[in-house]
Amino acid sequence: MTERAAEPAPSRPDSIRQGTSREELECLNPATGQRLGTVRAQSAEDMKDAVARARHAQRAWRGTSFRTRRKVLQRIGDHILREADALCALMCEDAGKTRENALLGEIWTVSEKLRWTLKHGEKHLRPERVSSGLFPHKRATIEFHPRGVVGVIAPWNYPLQNVLGPVIPALFAGNACIVKISEHVAHSAARIQWIFDEAFDHFGLPRELVQLVLGDGRTGKALIDAHVDLIVFTGSMENGRKVLRSSADTITPVILELGGKDALVVLDDAHLEQAAHGALAGSFIAAGQNCLAAERTLVQRPVYEAFVARVTELASQLRQGDPLDGAGAIDVGALVTPAQLQIVQDLVDDAIAKGARAVVGGSRGPASGNFFQPTVLVDCTPDMRIMQEETFGPIMAIAPFDTDDDAVRIANSTEYGLSLTVMSKSGQRAKAIADRVVSGSCSINDFGLTYMVQGLPFGGERGSGFGRLNGREGLRACTNQKAVLEDRFPIHLPAKLFPVTPGDYNTFKGTIRLIYGRGSERAKGAADLARGLWASLTR
Ligand code: NAD
Repeated sequence: MTERAAEPAPSRPDSIRQGTSREELECLNPATGQRLGTVRAQSAEDMKDAVARARHAQRAWRGTSFRTRRKVLQRIGDHILREADALCALMCEDAGKTRENALLGEIWTVSEKLRWTLKHGEKHLRPERVSSGLFPHKRATIEFHPRGVVGVIAPWNYPLQNVLGPVIPALFAGNACIVKISEHVAHSAARIQWIFDEAFDHFGLPRELVQLVLGDGRTGKALIDAHVDLIVFTGSMENGRKVLRSSADTITPVILELGGKDALVVLDDAHLEQAAHGALAGSFIAAGQNCLAAERTLVQRPVYEAFVARVTELASQLRQGDPLDGAGAIDVGALVTPAQLQIVQDLVDDAIAKGARAVVGGSRGPASGNFFQPTVLVDCTPDMRIMQEETFGPIMAIAPFDTDDDAVRIANSTEYGLSLTVMSKSGQRAKAIADRVVSGSCSINDFGLTYMVQGLPFGGERGSGFGRLNGREGLRACTNQKAVLEDRFPIHLPAKLFPVTPGDYNTFKGTIRLIYGRGSERAKGAADLARGLWASLTR
């Protein structure tokens, strides 16, 4: 690997390959409706071509040292930090998010993932020795070989993080990646592609190691059909099912990171201020377009009124608008599409029709973009659609409960199982609830911090998917975990099983009884063994 002098970064490099399909994707700013441009979608043929080029590039990359991979990732991280302001502005423009959310949810999470991978990645991917059990003359090792080409299919809610999140471990583990970025944030693709291209160019590595591809669900399906070696799909449960079906045809392993309907449980001994701010973060970060969003806030009856009063006060002060119009700080951004706005409105309307009350918000926000007002809905009940279906909007849906058992029952009452937050001054009580709720993660007294602890695996249970992305588990998921058994000593004794001799059955039976039996069973084993050996020797 030879390092080259850095080329000056063009302000809007068009380093992504345009597709050959006739279809164009229109890119719009969700906060203003402004047209950002169009990109050409990629065809099924383009996907085959991209996979072939990625395979070729991966052949050299798989042989690189961890040191080399660290250098490449470090350069990618340096680029992201250096360009953080520009990248945040792009994320605001393309996904309608606030500048702070772009900084925390995109730049910080990606930087932390890089830091963790640079520091800990190698030790989790080095060959791992395990006991060779019955065969002390052998050496048993688990080796972590790259899978080859990893296909990433990403949603729109965190344009940078949804790409880098799976690409960092996949690349570090020696794979090439093809990333189907969401059609709703296709405008960001060229700029994100440049982050990788710049690093690969600098080290004289092929750009085809990471290729962003453009298109909608059809391009995603074409990527699966083009025979990659692992699919990391992040998206809705509905499309997760389709991905699972498509990957069955090519027998491609899949990690599914799907939606959630997470509960944030406020127990009657919770610290009120901590619980209120946790709920605010859980409901309004990224305007609720967060897979881990606290979509249901369950509050124990003795503190229900005080909690509602406090979150009402806090939520009423939230400001909404275009973060880039220079008019001041914004707390809650826009929803990515008008269709998402309609989903949120329908769920709120259904809840209100069934008896919930909007004490803050409840309808669309500024008409300039896809805004829904930060909303606090109280007196929600588990039969309302908003307590069952993923909302993905800035809604704090609050329901009361009586006992800890009720909290567990309600928390478990949806198809999902992504994460859980419990607020309580009693760690033991909170943990007892967390143990009984089916979820891939849980956080006590803080919202969403599990994701920032990159040593922890991230993923869901039930309808929230399967497989893990972060931590050791996420790195190893990008590998073929090969079991290797080798000679410890240069002794070449043939293991003669054939032809079978008259004493073999008793010899094996005796050996098995001796090893696994207890008491008299072992004595019988010794007798079997003696009989078997005698029969073999005297045949
Ligand atoms: P989506 O399912 O509509 O789309 C996700 C991606 O899949 C897009 O790139 C889309 O083009 C592609 N796609 C659609 N149909 C496909 C098909 N048949 N085959 C292959 N690819 C296909 O999701 P979205 O609306 O972009 O994102 C929101 C969803 O993502 C929410 O449900 C949210 O909870 C989930 N999400 C989950 C996580 C997580 O880590 N668990 C993280 C972020 C978002």
